Amino acid sequence: AAKEAGKNSYKLFDLNSHQERKERVRVLEQIGQALSRHQLELFYQPKMDLEADQVKGFEALLRWNHPDEGLIGPGHFLGHIEYTEYARQVGLFVISEAVKRLLEFQSNGLDYHLSINLSPSHFLGPSFASDLEAALAPLPVNLRDKLILEVLETTALDDTERAIATVQACQALGVQVALDDFGTGYSSLDYFRRIPVDEIKIDRSFVTDMLEDPDGESVVNAIIGLCRSFGRRVIAEGIEDLPTVHRLVAMGCSAGQGFYYSKPVPCDQALTWAASYNGQTTGS
Ligand code: C2E
Ligand code: MG
Ligand code: MG
Ligand code: MG
Repeated sequence: AAKEAGKNSYKLFDLNSHQERKERVRVLEQIGQALSRHQLELFYQPKMDLEADQVKGFEALLRWNHPDEGLIGPGHFLGHIEYTEYARQVGLFVISEAVKRLLEFQSNGLDYHLSINLSPSHFLGPSFASDLEAALAPLPVNLRDKLILEVLETTALDDTERAIATVQACQALGVQVALDDFGTGYSSLDYFRRIPVDEIKIDRSFVTDMLEDPDGESVVNAIIGLCRSFGRRVIAEGIEDLPTVHRLVAMGCSAGQGFYYSKPVPCDQALTWAASYNGQTTGS
C-alpha cells in the first residue's frame, strides 16, 4: 500500500517530460478562461458517520468541464498552476462556492458540513488569511465551523511555523482545518503534536486494501491511536467495501468516505442521494 501513497494527490509535474511540458503550457493558457467562463465545477462526495450509518457532510472536489476534452480531474491541472497566481484564483473560487453552498444548505434546513481542498502555495502564501476573511464575509459566524479546509500533510511540512500560524488564523475566523492524505508526508510526532488541526484524514492508500494488507492496517491503526492520544478527530478515505467499514469502526474510527458509499457527483445528485440514504437508515 505504501508505495501508492499520495498517488491520489496531484503532484508537481516532471518538466523534463515533453508531454507534461506541453500539457503545462496548455493548462496555463486555458485556465484563466476556464475560470472566467465558469468551466470549473465542484463535485461532492459524502462524508459518513460509519457507526450511525449517516451522511454528515461532503467533500467538494474540483473538476474542469473542458469544452473539447470533457471532464478533467484535478490531477491533470492543479499541479501545473501551483505557485502561479492561478492557484490563488482557483482557491478563491472554491472557497466562495463553498460559502454559497453552506448558505444554501442552511436555507434548506440541511445541517451538513463541507470540506474543501486548498493548494499548498495558496494556503501558505501571503494573502491567504485576508482572502479567507473576505470570502467568509457572507457566512454568519455560527455557520463557519461547518467549513473544513483540507491541506495536505506535506503542505505543512515545508514551513512548520508558518503552517501552524495559518491554521490558527483560520480557526480564529471560525473555520476548521484538516490534514489530508495523512501518513504519506513523513511528519514527525513533534510536528503532529504542535499542528493544531481539527481533523486528520488517513490517506486512502492505507485504507482501500487494508483487509488484505497487514502493513496498511497497521498504519491505519497507528494513526487512529495517535489521533486518540492527541484528541484529534480522525477520518478514513478510500473506503470501497462494507467489511472495511466494520473493521474501521472496530478499530475506533467512526468517520469515513469512499466509493463504497458514493463517488464524487454534482451537488444536486449528492444531496438527493444523502437525503434518501439518511431517510432509509435508522440513524443508530
Ligand atoms: P483528496 O482531497 O485526497 O481527495 C480524494 C480523492 O480520492 C478524490 O480524487 C476522490 O475522487 C478519490 N476517492 C474518493 N474515494 C475513493 C475511493 O474509495 N477509492 C478511490 N480509488 N478513490 C477515491 P480527485 O477528485 O481526483 O482529487 C484528487 C486530489 O486533487 C484530491 O485528493 C485533492 O488533493 C486535489 N483536489 C481536488 N479538488 C481540489 C481543489 O478544489 N483544490 C485543490 N487545491 N486541490 C484539489
Ligand atoms: Mg489525496
Ligand atoms: Mg481532500
Ligand atoms: Mg486525501
